[in-house]
Amino acid sequence: MIRQAASSLLIYIICCCRYYYSSSLLPRGALAFTTSSPLRTKNYFFPPSESSSVLDGSSSDTNTMTTDSTTTGITIPHLSPTTLANLVDYTISFSAANGLQVQQKSERSATSTSSSYITAPISLLPQAYPHGQFQHGLALSTPFNLLVDRISRNGKFLQETLKGVRDVDEFTGMLLTLYEAIYLSDGHSSEQHAKGADRLGILRSDYMLHCSQAANNEYSIKQVELNTIASSFAGLASSVAKLHGFLTRRLGEEGLQEFLDVNERAVMGDSSDGIVDGDGERGVPQSLAMIRLPAAMAVAYDRYCARFNIGSSSNNDNNNGEHKSDAAVIKPVILFVVQPNETNTVDQRLLEFALWDNHEIPVVRMSLGEIHERVTLDEASGRLTIQNDDQGDNCGAVQEVVVVYFRAGYAPTDYPSGYNTADGSGIEWLARERLERGSAAKCPNLGYHLAGTKKVQQELARRGAVEQFFEGDEADVAAQIRTAFAGLYSLGADANEEDMEAVKDVLFNDAKGQYVLKPQREGGGYNYYGENLANKLKENCTITVDDDGNNDVTLSPDLSEFILMERLFPPQQRAILLRNGQVEGTGMSISELGCFGAIVSSGDGEVVHNEYAGFLLRTKFSGVDEGGVASGFATLSSPYLC
Ligand code: ADP
Ligand code: MG
Repeated sequence: MIRQAASSLLIYIICCCRYYYSSSLLPRGALAFTTSSPLRTKNYFFPPSESSSVLDGSSSDTNTMTTDSTTTGITIPHLSPTTLANLVDYTISFSAANGLQVQQKSERSATSTSSSYITAPISLLPQAYPHGQFQHGLALSTPFNLLVDRISRNGKFLQETLKGVRDVDEFTGMLLTLYEAIYLSDGHSSEQHAKGADRLGILRSDYMLHCSQAANNEYSIKQVELNTIASSFAGLASSVAKLHGFLTRRLGEEGLQEFLDVNERAVMGDSSDGIVDGDGERGVPQSLAMIRLPAAMAVAYDRYCARFNIGSSSNNDNNNGEHKSDAAVIKPVILFVVQPNETNTVDQRLLEFALWDNHEIPVVRMSLGEIHERVTLDEASGRLTIQNDDQGDNCGAVQEVVVVYFRAGYAPTDYPSGYNTADGSGIEWLARERLERGSAAKCPNLGYHLAGTKKVQQELARRGAVEQFFEGDEADVAAQIRTAFAGLYSLGADANEEDMEAVKDVLFNDAKGQYVLKPQREGGGYNYYGENLANKLKENCTITVDDDGNNDVTLSPDLSEFILMERLFPPQQRAILLRNGQVEGTGMSISELGCFGAIVSSGDGEVVHNEYAGFLLRTKFSGVDEGGVASGFATLSSPYLC
């Protein structure tokens, strides 16, 4: 039966491959994928063609999915068709058995809650990753957590850093304005609840391996960005690590090893001796994310319950504290703020289920629009409550919101009603503001959110900038953090000589392939690369020639919301990507490591919890043809430590 299914699958794969391969639209050597419109879900899987036209220095060995009608049909180097069929079969079954899935976009009506789920986009096998650099990423989690917490409390730094951005980027401007009104309003007692609230950070610092002269021409991790809001994939990535752990152990001796070894040599060099780099185990590590993230949330939850004496377990029959209510009271909840049409729901649900399983903490999911309708803030106590409108036993009961966890709210599209809060029309912003002003712990609060902006990332790379947050005894923490910084350049009024050199490098030295241009957006798909980058800069620069014949460049204020970043070139290795339960292609790939960190701190700055909290690896094809055929979908993967 299984064999039959596997061979039908194989035939299906062959047909797909033939279809792709024969597509006349594809230039020679291009990866052969169907195109789809980019999804703008945060850190979702499919960046658009522009952002994924990765790496000019691509390998010629980009698309080796070939057909051979006389024998097995598909040739993937170092992997037999039988092993491939086994891999696919196990992967799809494992995904179904373990919820390694994403929700399909469907025409769900208001009355129907039925949904269908498909296998998440995954890399069929883990990617070789140097153990020492993986450990380095893990070790940076707690320093970055601390850094974000300290930035969030430094209003002057945030105002100064973001002042050029706020004029041209309404979204960041709105976040900053709310932050100022709530946290920098000295003497406004109405904001005491927000100021006194705990802060919960679930951060994810993303890195690419990059080889630089400064690091003796060895690969070391460089930070791509630091996510401080809606850092996703902790749940699904943990499942992928389990899958990859299973596959490599189960099929290691049955045809997989050679494939893994070749990738290991591609990353570690020919001298790779099969001995793990650093101390630790070879192979796929298991992620702690589904233990540590719920644990951090539980710390914030329990602290709130203790502080307001509302009891953290059962149904609060001893509710005699400050936050007592006359209405029937049911167990306090963690509010997940979600997008109405979210498809990455399984990832979120895994966290929700772990919160219940490990800590008996209930979760309620609502969009910002729903929150505006149903969540109230008691100005006197700072209490946020949800009016329970069900018809059962709990009718009329209120649920107290003790932690607010944002999986939405990071993009302008999450606020469709606009920015006008004065006339009451900008309901999503009003909801965000209401949540912020309550005493619940926010994940993130506005300060944490702002600390994750790309402009802040660029500013921190300035000489002395990160160091100001770690003085005296802590200087080594700043030094540790700095090891992960890539070249980052301002395009605002604060641009200095070094920044302008980078701009001139693009404009006059044709170095467009060495940089990435990034606006203050989250969620993928907004960056400029290559020709688009050069054009964007040219359109927004005035070039004059001085008396000595030198080029002078003046930046348009419109560039203030962008930063220029050194482009990172991770090592390439082979991957087989799977999407919609089908092998989509094979080719050389690059990966991005994400390290989760969790922190809880009090309103007055005491850090009560700070730890590394799991990982994620995302893999996408490299070597996209210069012709710009849409491709390069990222997938979830795991590191194979070596
Ligand atoms: P977002 O907030 O949209 O996720 P990122 O900074 O993470 O913004 O950029 C999106 C993607 O673009 C990254 O996941 C990575 O694949 C690619 N990218 C970003 N910066 C660089 C860089 N400096 N070098 C190479 N690729 C990059
Ligand atoms: Mg990113």
